[in-house]
Amino acid sequence: MTLATVDPTTGKVLKEFAPHTPAEVEARVAAADAAFRALARTTFAQRADWMRRTADLLEAEADEVADLITTEMGKTLVSARYEALKSATAMRFFADHAERYLAPERPVDPATVGSAELAVRFDPIGVVLAVMPWNYPLWQCVRFAAPALMAGNTGLLKHASNVPQTALYLGDLFERGGFPAGSFPALLIEARDVSPLIEDRRIRAATLTGSVAAGAAVAEAAGRNIKKTVLELGGTDVFIVLPSADVSRAAEAAVTARVQNSGQSCIAAKRYYVHTEVYDEFTARFVEGMAATTTGDPRDEATTFGPLATGRGRRDVEELVADAVAKGATVLTGGVTPQGPGFFYPATVLADVTPAMRLYREECFGPVACVHRVSDLDEAIRLANDSDFGLSSSVWTTEPDEIDRLAREIDAGGVFVNGLTASFPGVPFGGVKDSGYGRELSAFGIREFVNAKTVWRA
Ligand code: NDP
Repeated sequence: MTLATVDPTTGKVLKEFAPHTPAEVEARVAAADAAFRALARTTFAQRADWMRRTADLLEAEADEVADLITTEMGKTLVSARYEALKSATAMRFFADHAERYLAPERPVDPATVGSAELAVRFDPIGVVLAVMPWNYPLWQCVRFAAPALMAGNTGLLKHASNVPQTALYLGDLFERGGFPAGSFPALLIEARDVSPLIEDRRIRAATLTGSVAAGAAVAEAAGRNIKKTVLELGGTDVFIVLPSADVSRAAEAAVTARVQNSGQSCIAAKRYYVHTEVYDEFTARFVEGMAATTTGDPRDEATTFGPLATGRGRRDVEELVADAVAKGATVLTGGVTPQGPGFFYPATVLADVTPAMRLYREECFGPVACVHRVSDLDEAIRLANDSDFGLSSSVWTTEPDEIDRLAREIDAGGVFVNGLTASFPGVPFGGVKDSGYGRELSAFGIREFVNAKTVWRA
């Protein structure tokens, strides 16, 4: 049985689920299609009312949901609760702003279009298949679903196979908030059943957050069927520290950046490029901070971060570290898997990581940081861009010229100056290169799955 809740703190299977039968899948696709037809006829005000009621429900149930998330993927209860509340905030944000984001647009120069009355409407397109990951099992889904439903689309949720109970919770949450039945049903299906499903004419587009391989598979099937995709595929984000930075603040943030969510975050900093003038001080403080973190029971408030979500995920991390160490990397702290049950892995810092090592290029989905010494800004930017990924970045300097160059020259979807990378409902989120394409959140996100329809009047 591949769809199961396995407690990452013990490795024990808690609950297994049979995949939906073809008839059960068909019922959910038909329900999502019917819900779309109903939703497309509603007003923004009606949808906003339902969205706010859904947010109320999620807030009221935050403790329960947090417990479920912690059980299924191991993040701390505190961070799971935060995730639930952040998701409710995003629902309210799109309830408040969707109508303005999708207000009909007038041409910038009416004289050139032959009509003073021309308007571009943003109409919903139909059912969007959402293939979602386990790392933020609520937030990743809501940041798609809240704007999509406010635009008048419906969704079909194919969640990761290790969070089936969170999937089922989400599958009727919006309906309980008042949306038509079938607005965001959960499909309990395996990954191999996703591409064939994309052929269904009722599914008009797909969005995926996850690995490059999964994104490529979904984009390939969607391309064959002339359907749009949005892909959010992770990253190897940089954390650049230059001489003018507040090194102590930077080192503190650097720890959070790497161990949040047990290091299983697409926008977690993974490659640290530190100017030689502050390298020794930064690295000493960073290593001290990483060594002081604790991993253990995610329900204990003293725990910094919980186990990794899956045994396979931990094996991937161990293999990347072993490869680097075998080829000459230096372990400054961590690097040893603890004995005992569960998928725990300690905060780890490596130096002397070279392009010969897998860790130099590949995304490490665990609390493992690589520190590199750089001699100047040019080298920092060159190495930052020497990556197949380009999701976001965090840069630490108070020099306006350096900030300007970093903002312009880093190939990524975001540059956060003197702060941690983060996602906000009102700010576009997404990457370049192998980190994917398209944007989530903000006006850019809500406009991904709409028909920009020209209405020309003589
Ligand atoms: P996957 O990409 O395998 O899983 C993400 C989602 O995609 C899941 O719902 C999964 O379903 C589905 N999926 C997987 N393969 C396919 C496919 N061929 N066609 C359609 N859907 C598919 O991520 P993993 O959990 O295996 O993690 C592997 C790596 O992916 C991580 O180490 C990390 O590098 C990256 N990742 C990035 C995330 C991000 O936030 N950007 C989130 C998660 C992972 P199922 O669970 O049934 O396989």
